[in-house]
Amino acid sequence: MNTSTLEPTLSQPTMQSKPIDIKNITVIGAGTMGNGICHVFAQHGYNVSMMDVSQDAMNKAMITIGKNMDRQISKQAMTEEEKLASLSRIATYTDMAESLKDADLVIEAATESIDLKLKIFESIDKHAPEKCILATNTSSISITRISAHTKRMHKVIGMHFMNPVPVMRLVEIINGYATDRETTNAVIELSKIIGKVPCVVNDYPGFISNRILLPMINEAILALQEGVAGVEEIDTIMKLGMAHPMGPLQLADFIGLDTCYSIMNVLHMGFGNQKYAPATLLANMVQAGFLGVKSGEGFYKHVAGSKELVVSERFLHKKW
Ligand code: NAD
Repeated sequence: MNTSTLEPTLSQPTMQSKPIDIKNITVIGAGTMGNGICHVFAQHGYNVSMMDVSQDAMNKAMITIGKNMDRQISKQAMTEEEKLASLSRIATYTDMAESLKDADLVIEAATESIDLKLKIFESIDKHAPEKCILATNTSSISITRISAHTKRMHKVIGMHFMNPVPVMRLVEIINGYATDRETTNAVIELSKIIGKVPCVVNDYPGFISNRILLPMINEAILALQEGVAGVEEIDTIMKLGMAHPMGPLQLADFIGLDTCYSIMNVLHMGFGNQKYAPATLLANMVQAGFLGVKSGEGFYKHVAGSKELVVSERFLHKKW
């Protein structure tokens, strides 16, 4: 069935709908993505409330934002005064209700766990002002499922930023089944204001980015597992042959093999199609704790501070 005839995808805001005024943004979760999202909004003049259950995570996030802004200063993309003004626009909270008091938009960027996100959204819905839009940065969890745990399904939407947020221009905007046009238009406009390029898609497993990227990564792992080629050969072929900036195995290490595994499971379960079954090698590596950059070893060995690509010894002595 051609679903596009059932659910037309919005790519342009409609002029008839009244724009929603967004000034105050609450970001739930101050990890890798949360700190980048806070950075970009504060840099563009928004009042940002950063909320995390861990004060330590927020302290680290503020240090990271400061360092990343220093990098922008060294490239003349920001002045010292703009950095100080941007940092002064970010307030930190460990209390969710407090952080949501004046929010026009909430962007949830907490740990990728369905149970956790459903609980967080129930709480956001309870404490955020009625007019507030609720967005999630989830990489793979159904926006519709999350929205069903709120009393404002029409105001729930996916805002899928890419890592690193201050650098990557895409925001994949995901309409849940019940998301209304006013909400979609508001996040399209907002994404443009912060210098991003919004692309609107519908709520199907993996959306577009991960539905296409992850099966490619999984296929690279299957090829390695079957002995078709080694780590370096697979990555070199995709880099030099297809002009990809990074090979699929290096990219998998960068994303985190646990994250890759969990997204493949979402695709596999969501579509019920064997073609999305995660590679056994991927499952084994995750179960053994070889998660890529975050654990120090995946397909490559990763030494903090070094950009040199060293293939993991586990893959060096195989005869292909
Ligand atoms: P992370 O592990 O770096 O950070 C998650 C943060 O959430 C932690 O600081 C943790 O303390 C906090 N947290 C946990 N429970 C919380 C709660 N109840 N309330 C508030 N904060 C809570 O994770 P991340 O990589 O930043 O990913 C966050 C989200 O962004 C996930 O949904 C992920 O799928 C998505 N995402 C990640 C990437 C990526 O490359 N890392 C890219 C796109 C989207």
